[in-house]
Amino acid sequence: MEADYVIVGAGSAGCVLANRLSADPANRVLLLEAGPPDDALSLKIPSAMAANLAGRKHNWAFDGEPEPRLGGRRVRHDRGKTLGGSSSINGMVYIRGHAADYDGWRQMDCAGWGYADVLPYFKRAETFEGGADAFRGGAGPLHVSLPRPLHPLSAAFLKAGAEAGYGASDDINGYRQEGFALLNRTIRGGERWSAARAYLRPASGRPNLTVRPEVLALRVEIEDGRAVGVAFRDAAGGCRRATACKEVVLSAGAVGSPHLLMLSGIGPAAHLQAHGIVPIADRPGVGANLNDHPDFVVKIACKQPVTLWPDTRWPRKGLVGLRWLLRRDGVCASNHFDVVACLRSGKEVAYPDLQFTLAPIATAPDSWDPLEMHAFQIHVGLMRAHSRGSLRLTDGDPLSAPKIRANYLDDPRDGDRLRRGVRLVRRLVDMPAFGSYRGKEIFPGAEVQSDAQLDAALRAGLGTQWHLSCTAKMGPASDPTAVVDPAGRVYGVAGLRVVDASIMPEVVNGNTNGPTIMIAEKLSDAILGKPPLPQESPAVWDGPIEGLDEEGETAP
Ligand SMILES: Cc1cc2nc3c(=O)[nH]c(=O)nc-3n(C[C@H](O)[C@H](O)[C@H](O)COP(=O)(O)OP(=O)(O)OC[C@H]3O[C@@H](n4cnc5c(N)ncnc54)[C@H](O)[C@@H]3O)c2cc1C
Repeated sequence: MEADYVIVGAGSAGCVLANRLSADPANRVLLLEAGPPDDALSLKIPSAMAANLAGRKHNWAFDGEPEPRLGGRRVRHDRGKTLGGSSSINGMVYIRGHAADYDGWRQMDCAGWGYADVLPYFKRAETFEGGADAFRGGAGPLHVSLPRPLHPLSAAFLKAGAEAGYGASDDINGYRQEGFALLNRTIRGGERWSAARAYLRPASGRPNLTVRPEVLALRVEIEDGRAVGVAFRDAAGGCRRATACKEVVLSAGAVGSPHLLMLSGIGPAAHLQAHGIVPIADRPGVGANLNDHPDFVVKIACKQPVTLWPDTRWPRKGLVGLRWLLRRDGVCASNHFDVVACLRSGKEVAYPDLQFTLAPIATAPDSWDPLEMHAFQIHVGLMRAHSRGSLRLTDGDPLSAPKIRANYLDDPRDGDRLRRGVRLVRRLVDMPAFGSYRGKEIFPGAEVQSDAQLDAALRAGLGTQWHLSCTAKMGPASDPTAVVDPAGRVYGVAGLRVVDASIMPEVVNGNTNGPTIMIAEKLSDAILGKPPLPQESPAVWDGPIEGLDEEGETAP
């Protein structure tokens, strides 16, 4: 088996690359994916996220290592395992991050990655159903839509923000990120719009593109310092090799790509040797610098019978399902995150570091089952955490899952900011807008007030927003912890790139699917030797912090 480009992983990034690289019929492209095709109905229904996560067919479902600051609790790290990768099982929230995130990348010596550089690629990727403008795309494969109609609890959330003194944004991915806004979603015509739907399906008829699902890449084959192919296990369990005449591109995600690099001899030399792997390039940054967005959920009883709970029970469950099957609309056509607030946790913070989203239903502890009552929940996402984790080999067997430790709350600033976030949720829910809905706080519970009590609640309840990233970070050649250069080329091995969420130098203050697709759009040009799109620098909002209480603080 031979191709010009062998891409490992048909996830958010891999699907973009497969499309863009095979657009020229002269390029032979082979895409290897460990998971099965994405033809299951549950992968199309936006509201079926829980069903996809409950199974193992389309989900790697890695068990994290015991988290030292969470009392040794393990957090499960779901990752997509099908065409579309994590974009086929994710929450469909589309938030790019703040302009300052990308300017931060440029300041970390990642030339060509400032906001003015990446904005044209976000636009090229996107068709925004709200209309194209200086920030939004109008002709790209990735369809991004707005929630319609707005759930009454979502409307209350927006109103509560205004009552608490916060500003609103009319486009969270446009001029102003900070404030209260409608969410954007990767949903089109009532169906999940994964990277496979957006990019792979339109290219699937090309004779120069071969897609091989259900094959597990085992390692990159390297000869004389150059990547020449990929060893993989086919669906029947046989070991085979794909030869790359031009390049091997790893797009196996923030877990899969650093894992494959280490299995191939690229990583911290002593760690590789300890597992019987001969080091080819000693890169201590492989598997280091793991970033994530921790997530904490406040659950509140709802006095009005407006939540989605009845729709999760028979016979209504059957009726809403039937409506989706017949018309692709109604409850099942939504991810149920209508609204968002991107806010600063404190006056010392330069731009938003907390993300709040409301779901008009609440789930039972450690479960995807709904609470058997009318209730809603507000997620507090810490979008610029200071703690860093790691990904390490369990052993040298490519079939063994790697060890993932996010080190949540390792940096005390993270707990401090999350506590402020929980207090801010309470302040919002206390606003008149929630007056007719507000019941008692179910979790963590109104009695949980002191820092020590809130810390205990964080230890018990903190989870992930599933934004693992930065485990093969890009950076300049002078940085020994950088794994790839700003064109995604792996330091120390020719003919090998990493193009996915793992190359972010620092996670953005947004949700990682859109940014990963942008990364792949941009690096597809680099791989093809095309010049980057011209910079675009529309002005972005730069106002003062809002929503301060009478004491001039962000939360009581
Ligand atoms: C449950 C969940 C909810 C999320 N919610 C959101 C959200 O609402 N909004 C948002 O923006 N982001 C969300 N994310 C994050 C976002 O989807 C990911 O950051 C993004 O999809 C990562 O893209 P990627 O290309 O780096 O990796 P992935 O999309 O994960 O793709 C990697 C692919 O490589 C394959 N692979 C791995 N190892 C191998 C191997 N050895 N051989 C062959 N194939 C291999 C995998 O099976 C997978 O298909 C969520 C993620 C999850 C898991």
